[in-house]
Amino acid sequence: MRCPICGASQRVDVSRPPGDCVCASCGALAWIGPRVDSTGNVRAAIEQSVEELSQLCRRDVPVEQIGDVLVKEVTHCLAAHGAMLWLGDQTRRRPRGKRLRLVAATGRCDDTPRFAEEVSETQRDELRKAIAEGQEVLLIGAPVVRNSRVAAVIEVLQRTGSRPTAQRGYLRFVRKVAEIFAGCSALSMGES
Ligand SMILES: [Zn+2]
Repeated sequence: MRCPICGASQRVDVSRPPGDCVCASCGALAWIGPRVDSTGNVRAAIEQSVEELSQLCRRDVPVEQIGDVLVKEVTHCLAAHGAMLWLGDQTRRRPRGKRLRLVAATGRCDDTPRFAEEVSETQRDELRKAIAEGQEVLLIGAPVVRNSRVAAVIEVLQRTGSRPTAQRGYLRFVRKVAEIFAGCSALSMGES
């Protein structure tokens, strides 16, 4: 079975008691024991999380509610320290540098929008080492682009010490979540 985050292949012992199964290569939560169906197939926990998020994005629920699920799922799947969702200002009237507001957060957080502002500015994924609350972390940021504008930014505080392949996997995953969230109908509120 392949890890959906880093792509590493490995054997998974499904006969073990139910519980989280962590990818030995990247540390992401790869599979969950209880999600073994009657035919014995193991469903990837990450793929299931992504599917649940996609379904929620198609429903008419407030953006804060989706954001809450999004940050929790991302943190859980990546076994990260924490995650945040910053929402862009729809009116574009706020001064430069104050265009993002925090709508959802879980776990350990970065208390300034600086990194998210940068991601919003460049409209590109970012991955870099930083210090948060005195500890080294890997910051991962992905813009949520809608109608060529950055509608939101997803920021993740990830564990350090991972290999480049794992890091690329984390980034790919956060980008995928950003793409799903970009299609969210709740984001259209306030758009002219
Ligand atoms: Zn992995």
